[in-house]
Amino acid sequence: MARRKKIYEGKAKILYEGPEPGTLVQYFKDDATAFNAQKKDVIEGKGVLNNRLSEFFMTGLNQIGVPTHFLKRLNMREQLVRSCEIIPLEIIVRNYAAGSLTQRLGIAEGTQLPRPIVEYCYKDDALGDPLVTEEHIAAFGWASQQDMDDVLSLALRVNDFMSGVMLAVGIRLVDFKIEIGRVYEGDFQRLVVADEISPDSCRLWDIETGQKLDKDVFRRDLGNLTDAYSEVARRLGVMPKNSGHAKPTLIN
Ligand code: UDP
Repeated sequence: MARRKKIYEGKAKILYEGPEPGTLVQYFKDDATAFNAQKKDVIEGKGVLNNRLSEFFMTGLNQIGVPTHFLKRLNMREQLVRSCEIIPLEIIVRNYAAGSLTQRLGIAEGTQLPRPIVEYCYKDDALGDPLVTEEHIAAFGWASQQDMDDVLSLALRVNDFMSGVMLAVGIRLVDFKIEIGRVYEGDFQRLVVADEISPDSCRLWDIETGQKLDKDVFRRDLGNLTDAYSEVARRLGVMPKNSGHAKPTLIN
């Protein structure tokens, strides 16, 4: 059998050429990294959980008319996605203060923000993904003003959707990061939510106890990461069929 072509390998995922033009296969690895890859580990089962959770969130977004790159899940670790040109920005939406915001502005962790705050970081590992303003984005041509209007509106719609879904299962969406890509259709381009939406890229706190159910468990050595992600999956009813317990059956 011919070996499929690897298009790109990142820290947590691999992209392979898809079965049809304009498609890619997105493979979720078990690798976990933090602090710009200075902290690394392999967390068995993380990729399986993130594949399922990202499928769940992207499917929901598609259903409410927020376009995403997600087409279908293929197996435990892979999903078929539309190929797109990623805007080189990490789009961060914050509802409560945490992480770099608390450090930058000295706001206590957990403080509710007066309104959702959207930030942009330039995607460049060598530079540590620096925070940038719309001035930089326009001046360096990373995205047009029209793109940025659409990016902001998509980011806020994702925030409303994700906040509601999480609230329904007793979880607070503190903040999250998304990436957005351009899909070309003839002479037109449209923007879609791409990459992944999972506990790797969100901060999720239990509303009652404040327990962290996201990658901070790994960043700060707070316990078992797959237990935290499995709890999110369990509450959302996102579990592989026939597994009545919190841990998914790991096949590959
Ligand atoms: N985030 C991410 N990838 C990054 C940087 C941030 O997924 O490269 C997510 C992070 O998990 C959190 C949100 O974006 O949910 C805001 O992150 P922050 O700026 O506070 O940075 P951090 O403290 O995670 O370094």
